[in-house]
Amino acid sequence: MKNRQRTNRSLSDHNSSRRGKKHKSLLQPLLLLLFSVALFYGAYYFFSDHLDGDEDALPEVIEEAPPESPEQVEETGLEDPEDLEPAPVQEQDDPDSADLSEPVAVELQVITDGDYLLALVTKETTLKSSYAPTNLVRISDYMFPARELWLREEAYRQLEQLWQAATDDGITLTIISAYRSYDYQKTLFQNYANSYGEEAANRFSARAGQSEHQLGTTVDFGGTAVDLKAAFADTEQGRWLADNAYQFGFAMSYPEGKEKITGYIFEPWHYRYIGLEAAAAWHEAGLSLKEFLQQKPQFFE
Ligand SMILES: [Zn+2]
Repeated sequence: MKNRQRTNRSLSDHNSSRRGKKHKSLLQPLLLLLFSVALFYGAYYFFSDHLDGDEDALPEVIEEAPPESPEQVEETGLEDPEDLEPAPVQEQDDPDSADLSEPVAVELQVITDGDYLLALVTKETTLKSSYAPTNLVRISDYMFPARELWLREEAYRQLEQLWQAATDDGITLTIISAYRSYDYQKTLFQNYANSYGEEAANRFSARAGQSEHQLGTTVDFGGTAVDLKAAFADTEQGRWLADNAYQFGFAMSYPEGKEKITGYIFEPWHYRYIGLEAAAAWHEAGLSLKEFLQQKPQFFE
């Protein structure tokens, strides 16, 4: 009996030890599997977290406080010497053309040569992204440029004459903006479109290729407490320019009550140099600059 018990015990010991071995042999692959699963999920969460982090790191929409006037924001701090270098040549169908700041109208007419003083720059036409004037000269400090600003030489020589005449009449002006490159305008418009919506932005800011500032012949005048506002028209500076700028070859591009024609709000500070003869004829005609230039020969690609 004792023996039998012993035998039984030893048998059961034997059995339990065999079961133990069996457990161990099952446990190892199970642990391996669990470990693999844990590793897989660990890696998954690590990488998905990592991806989220990258999304957060994407540039956020540039938010700006509502400007005193649209162009006031336009003129703050974005211009630096880099912007004044000619824009790189871009293919017409590059991926950027899907961008908000690019012209989106149906079939824009591409202006052959921005150097042509009477080139029609509107919302229906576009300058090439590669177009930049070659003969830019820096605006002298006595004109109180808002920062380092440039203008095409021919326009600048006439601006000097205009300045002298204004000074003689006791009028003090400043220069808020002049030449703006294609790339600069692109950034500018994109920022406005982000802040105000594309449609609103396009009433006071041009898309890249559609700004007269890219021509290097266009000046935004200031020198008052109401710069870049419609009220500029009623200041002595605004009145003097309206009466006299054409004598020096400068035409007001966006006159009052012509938004439906020009596509832009009244900008009594924005003048474009078109040459002495043309400006005299424009003044005589009493047309918006757009209407006037539409009557002149235009060259498109
Ligand atoms: Zn302007």
